[in-house]
Amino acid sequence: MANDFVTIMDMKFLNISKNDLFQDIIYPRLHNNEKTYLVTANPEIVMLAKEKRDFRDMVSRADYIVPDGTGIVIASKIIKQPIEERIPGFEIMTELIGYAEENQLSCYFIGAEEQVNRRFITKIKELHPNLLVAGSHHGFFDLNDRHIVDSIKRTEPDLVFVALGAPRQDAWITKYYDELDKGLFMGVGGSFDVIAGNVKRAPEIWIRFNLEWLYRLIKQPFRWKRILKVFEFMIRIVLKKY
Ligand code: UDP
Repeated sequence: MANDFVTIMDMKFLNISKNDLFQDIIYPRLHNNEKTYLVTANPEIVMLAKEKRDFRDMVSRADYIVPDGTGIVIASKIIKQPIEERIPGFEIMTELIGYAEENQLSCYFIGAEEQVNRRFITKIKELHPNLLVAGSHHGFFDLNDRHIVDSIKRTEPDLVFVALGAPRQDAWITKYYDELDKGLFMGVGGSFDVIAGNVKRAPEIWIRFNLEWLYRLIKQPFRWKRILKVFEFMIRIVLKKY
């Protein structure tokens, strides 16, 4: 079956249900040892690709771009090419880890601070005692350092999760992609922090009043800039200023 795509600001999104993404694309590719570069993109990523040529070139090498973020789904409705559903990268990662455990596929985990990475691995082994962990490494290294890619060549993992945030995670993947023979590669941003318990939720009262987002903004003011990018994305979509 041919896949359906929707292009939003020059980014070609796969328009598919999460179930079909796994059943029709990811699982068969894993079983055929077909190398895959998967990008999950939200409005911030679309804006980054629009503004930064080198990032645009990296993402253009993805086999599939999946809509992660309500903003993308809303935008697709505004341009009258509705996307079926949002598929959060975090969910793809957690489901793939479960699938890897069941099917004895091995995983490699790159990213986050050293302690967070360690705590993440401990937690993931608790949750998935039969998971084959090919290796792991924290995310604070020079992109030219060949240590990790050499380790991946030796251990030949089936899945490689890269939690360096954008654009760094895509820079790492695209820098070494051609050298590697197999594996599904995906950037997963701050996902290791979430599983390691490094990202604290807001106090109950903020959550009760639906103000968790505001709490985060106050705690991490650098997020303002990100939120503004999402606004800019929406305004451009509405005004058709791509
Ligand atoms: N990170 C990293 N190396 C770096 C910069 C960031 O491993 O040089 C990690 C950081 O510790 C965090 C993740 O990358 O775990 C990025 O998280 P962020 O919340 O920025 O990503 P998002 O989920 O918003 O894409």
